[in-house]
Amino acid sequence: KHAAKIRLDDVKGEQSKDKDKADRATSEQVLDQRTRMILLQMINRGFVSEVHGAISTGKEANVYGAVAYPDLDGPPIQRAIKVYKTAILSFKDRERYITGEHRFKSGAEKGNSRKMVKLWAEKEFRNLRRIHSAGIKCPEPIQLKLHVLVMELLGDRRGYAYPRLRDAAISSEDSEEVWRSLYIQLLGIMRRMYQVCRLVHADLSEYNILYNDRQLYIIDVSQSVEHDHPRSLEFLRMDIKNTGDFFRREGVDILSDRVVFDFITA
Ligand code: ATP
Ligand code: MN
Repeated sequence: KHAAKIRLDDVKGEQSKDKDKADRATSEQVLDQRTRMILLQMINRGFVSEVHGAISTGKEANVYGAVAYPDLDGPPIQRAIKVYKTAILSFKDRERYITGEHRFKSGAEKGNSRKMVKLWAEKEFRNLRRIHSAGIKCPEPIQLKLHVLVMELLGDRRGYAYPRLRDAAISSEDSEEVWRSLYIQLLGIMRRMYQVCRLVHADLSEYNILYNDRQLYIIDVSQSVEHDHPRSLEFLRMDIKNTGDFFRREGVDILSDRVVFDFITA
């Protein structure tokens, strides 16, 4: 059997970067006991073999690179593990997404932050599954346990994650044409997500889209809502505005928000 290990030094590695935040970062970035137990359980069951350093450390979640060896002699598979934070801070403004969701009437809406993060992870897992089965490019969800979600890594074989669309280096001489076609590609994704998955992303922007080789990938769907959510159309308008603004800044001659809205919902 392959030696399974969690490299906690890697996981802690980001700490020293910013001395100012170091004190708070310590408690936030080191995996807690419960999270380590979940990761060990996942290692024992073969969903992951090694957990590497942080790809991203944010307010609501940290994302770690990981590797799995599904076959003893087969090639390693790159994975990403999203660990939702149990700190209560960021959940206040998230309530509006859950309230009104008929899928989540479990009474966990208020109070218990551990239940809340579990709910967010669950929501992301189910949304990813739905989006992935609809043929939209996004991480394939692999495994979920409490606030820990294992998914496909969107990245290369060495484990380097694709950049966010915001950071994508598109600088060929036909970049104008590339940006235009990416815009069209995104409109198609939003429409498919609405029509086939019956979901509105609700936090769509150049930060939650990854880019590689003229292909867009949708990520971060824990707050995505059913299109019968009372505020789904409001969220959709926000998504249309944010992504439209971005593509306009990149020089694309974008369609009006109204036309895009009708295209997506009609
Ligand atoms: P926070 O708001 O706390 O920053 P988040 O909820 O925005 O966290 P995500 O957007 O899902 O978390 O992930 C954070 C970052 O991690 C992304 O911007 C992306 O760079 C990277 N990432 C997330 N999932 C994957 C994946 N499956 N493959 C590659 N990179 C990923
Ligand atoms: Mn994000």
